[in-house]
Amino acid sequence: MLSARNLEVVYDDVVRALRGVSLDVPDGRIVALLGSNGAGKTSLLRSLTGLLDVHHGEVTKGTVSLDGDDLRRTPPEKIVKRGVRQVLEGRRVFVELSVEENLKVGAHTARSLMAQNLERVYGLFPVLADRRGKTAGYLSGGEQQMLAMGRAMMSSPRYLLLDEPSLGLAPLMVAAIRDVIVEINQEGTGILLVEQNAAMALSIAHHGYVMETGRVVLDKPAAELNADDDVREFYLGLH
Ligand code: ATP
Repeated sequence: MLSARNLEVVYDDVVRALRGVSLDVPDGRIVALLGSNGAGKTSLLRSLTGLLDVHHGEVTKGTVSLDGDDLRRTPPEKIVKRGVRQVLEGRRVFVELSVEENLKVGAHTARSLMAQNLERVYGLFPVLADRRGKTAGYLSGGEQQMLAMGRAMMSSPRYLLLDEPSLGLAPLMVAAIRDVIVEINQEGTGILLVEQNAAMALSIAHHGYVMETGRVVLDKPAAELNADDDVREFYLGLH
């Protein structure tokens, strides 16, 4: 299990982004992490993948752990090797490389399994198979999101952490991304899904957390969050 306990995160020694956050991502589950802009969702993801340093942030209290092992001093590449893989917001792909080259770059932790993983990723994302020789910069926004996810899947992660995968995409593409998240999960990968699109996230999640200004204010099974009218209106903006 991937866990955060009573986590406090501070940027530049002054900005308190997380004020005592606890969250669990159990194996093989989909966990939705919801909340408005600036609530601290991205900071929590960065804490789990060792990427706070790059953003001048640090854990000032609490722990981040994988199967009970403290990850706070573990470098990001070691965290990836242990099976925790993050797809960054903004679907960063190498725009000058082809689709297949992008995927091969993603495989750096498991070269021996490259061919097998390529086939698996092309199975998950047939549109990437169709475009394998195309320059990634010419893909649509949704296809680039798929490529960013496909690249992460090249290392067969145990956990996939997704930061707003539906951002800016048309409804049909959002539905396609949702379906592929479900498929990836059904193959055994645990998912932490950060989303503004609460309806989409809760439609597939097992559990949901809602954050507000650096704290978790709700921590419940997704079905309960979805069924609660007050929660829907006040926290999720759904009616
Ligand atoms: P968004 O949906 O806008 O990404 P979020 O819920 O992911 O929001 P964070 O990005 O984690 O929230 O931001 C939490 C708080 O930390 C905000 O007040 C934000 O301004 C601040 N913050 C985030 N990154 C940095 C940084 N690199 N330096 C300083 N402050 C930061």
